Parts: sequence; C-alpha cells; structure tokens
Amino acid sequence: MIVRFAPSPTGYLHIGNARTALLNALLARREGGRFILRLDDTDRARSREEYADAIREDLAWLGVTPDAVFRQSQRGALYEAAAARLRAAGRLYPCYETAGELERRRRLQLARGLPPVYDRAALKLTAAERAALEAQGRRPHWRFLLHPETVVWNDLVRGESRVDCASLSDPVLVREDGAFLYTLPSVVDDADMGVTHVIRGEDHVTNTAVQIQLFAALGAPSPLFGHHNLLVTADGEGLSKRQGHLSLRGLRERGVEPLAAAALAVLVGTPEAVRPVASLDELASLVDLGSISRAPARFDERELLALNARLLHDMPWEVARPRLAAAGAGLDEAGWLAVRGNLERFSDAAVWAAIIRHGPQRPPAAGMDDAFRAAALETAPPEPWNDATWKVWTGAIRERTGARGRALFMPLRLALTGRDHGPEMAALLPLIGREEALRRIRAAM
Ligand code: GLU
Repeated sequence: MIVRFAPSPTGYLHIGNARTALLNALLARREGGRFILRLDDTDRARSREEYADAIREDLAWLGVTPDAVFRQSQRGALYEAAAARLRAAGRLYPCYETAGELERRRRLQLARGLPPVYDRAALKLTAAERAALEAQGRRPHWRFLLHPETVVWNDLVRGESRVDCASLSDPVLVREDGAFLYTLPSVVDDADMGVTHVIRGEDHVTNTAVQIQLFAALGAPSPLFGHHNLLVTADGEGLSKRQGHLSLRGLRERGVEPLAAAALAVLVGTPEAVRPVASLDELASLVDLGSISRAPARFDERELLALNARLLHDMPWEVARPRLAAAGAGLDEAGWLAVRGNLERFSDAAVWAAIIRHGPQRPPAAGMDDAFRAAALETAPPEPWNDATWKVWTGAIRERTGARGRALFMPLRLALTGRDHGPEMAALLPLIGREEALRRIRAAM
C-alpha cells in the first residue's frame, strides 16, 4: 500500500484536512504501507513556503511522519513529458478562447437550456487559424480530450461509482502561462510514485473520472480510489483552508490535544462513537473506509473540547510525566492523579501545581469567621496526612461549629486553593501538607 496526502500549501491545515491526512497515514501504518506527503504547489501565486512548513509541523503535531516528501514545483519536467505524450496522442489540444468568450458561450448555452459544456470549438481550428491567433499574441491553454464514456470504479468508501464524462467539459490541464493545473501533475505523480490507494474528500469524485481517463491515456494503471465525506461546520458550511477555518494550529493554541483532534477528525461521520483513544495505533484499528457515512460529517467544536477533557481525565501518569517535566510543572504522580480530572487543557496542570505548592496568590476572601478559623486550626489532624484526612478534619470542624455542607467545605476550599471549584479536597490536602494548610487558613479572610 502506498498512499499520499496532497495538500496545496495555500493555507493552514484544518480539521477536515486532518481527516484526509489521517485516513491515509493510519491505513498505511496499519497495513505496513508507505505514506507520502506531496505538496501540490504548482500554483506559484498562491503557494507559500510558510504554509509548506506549517503543514509538516501540523502533521508532526498530530503524530504523523511522512515516509517521503515531494513537491510538485520541483517535478515540472515529468509533467512536460506527460503533456507532450498526450499532445502526440491527440488528447491534449490548444484552445484560444478568453475567459470572457467562454463565459458568453456558457450563458448562451444555459439560455437555450443546454448543459454549459465546452463546445470544443478549438478542435475545429485549422493550422492557419491557430497561426493567425498566435500572431495576434494569443497564447493557448490546453484541454484534455475526454472520451465520451461513463467511467465506473469501485470506490473504497462509496461503492460502485460512475461519472458520465460526456456531460463534462474537457478539462484545462495547462494554462496560457504554461503552468499546470492540479489534474495532470496529480496523475503523473500518483503513477510515478506507485500510489496504490487515493483516499481524499468527495469533492474530488468528478476529478476521479477525468483522472481515470488520464491514467489510461498515459498507459498507467489506475490506483484504487476512496472518497470520504467532508466535514462541515454546525451551520452546514464547508471548511476552507484559505479562510483559516478551525485550523489545527488554532486548536493547538487553544490547548486541544493532538490525539483528541485526531480521534474526532477520524471518527466523526462514521459508525464508531467519537471517543478518546490512547494512541494512533488504536485509532488506526478503528478506520474502516467502507463504513464511512455518505452524508457530510458535522464538526462541533464543543464536542472536540469535551473529548479533549475526557482524554486528559484519563491520561496516565507515564504519558503526563515527561510533559509536566518539560513544562516545569512540579507535580508528582499523586498530584497528577489529583488534578487530571479537572483539566480542560493540559496547561491547566501547571496552574494547579502552583496552587498546591504556593496556594492562592493573594489571601482569598474565604468567608471565614474567627470561630470557624479557630476550630479549623485547633482540630487539624496530626501528620501524616492522607486521603482520609479531609473527612476527619471537616468532621471535627462540623462538630465544633455546627457548619455543614457548603458552609463547611467552601471556606476551606477557598482558603486553601483560592478557587471555589477544582480537584477533590481529599486528594489535594495531603499534597498541600499540614503546615502549609494551616498557614493558608491563618492568612485567609
Ligand atoms: N491538492 C489537492 C487538494 O488539496 C489534492 C487532491 C488529491 O488528493 O488528489 O485538494
């Protein structure tokens, strides 16, 4: 199995691009195949180096390392050679219409109730007419002559698929300025790289019919194709790389874990429940192209944030440990287990580590009257403190003061942490320790 992910470096990857990238990368991982990153950067005007770098960074963040990286901008000679073969075979022909002319013809066709398909007028030009146009300074663009056949393939996601090419315009493969549009380089590269499975969004279904004809015209076998459903926003709007929709880097900045983004990108719009996974291998075991839904998959940011929290709440100490160390958050295993259930993002762990160590930044208004404070100070159990200490201590304070429920717990929580919610006090108390806890109670107001 050789697969590829082929983004154009014209923007930052979004969660929908992550779906395509991961479906390819995870299948290759599971099947022992190769995963190629191919930067479709033939559009010089829109491609940017900054985006090319960002794509690799974002894939690395997701945990995906390509086995090879190619850039179409460096492979022009291959495309020229393929175009020459198509010309020689009579499958690539020069056209001289301007965009305005084409638009006028399209409107006429529509007005007459005809499908707005290119009429192949350029095919009828004589050599002398072409020479005359060129003498006026017109440069041709080049169209691929489609066979008027119905192309049929067994799609890995959608099952038997068919496109009637007689209803399509011959696609432009080469622009006036000699630049190659996406269609031909993609086929040349897939053939040259031995790609066996092309897995991409269903916005490419029509392209696939054209490309199957191109593979045949170039004498190359067609790969298998699978077109997955697209992610849309809650309003049903498509995601756009250029609009910076839900970019992976934006999610990362908001503290979304890569495995949460990956799990959602892969599982939404499939029969699998969207749920936390422990690894990309586990996620790979859940990929089943044939069961992906045909309807668009709705991306709900709240669902992602909830998934992210669930992932953190279950994150094992061995996974958290190196990251806590790298972040300089002084939390040991007991500290991690105490706070993880309260995290919305990993970086919150450092906030709780600081609260455990140093307490509230300023003495909090804990609503502690003198009688309560005295009771708390006098009944504090002797060390060692463990997770039973909270119960013993609050039991003793209740007996002395008669406070119960919120009136009992909240002044203590506020005095000790400065916050009105957070991890279980029973777990925090032994981490704070007796001496420090009593200091915070004396300081609280
Ligand atoms: N550059 C194309 C895109 O981003 C690649 C499509 C394909 O996978 O062939 O849509």
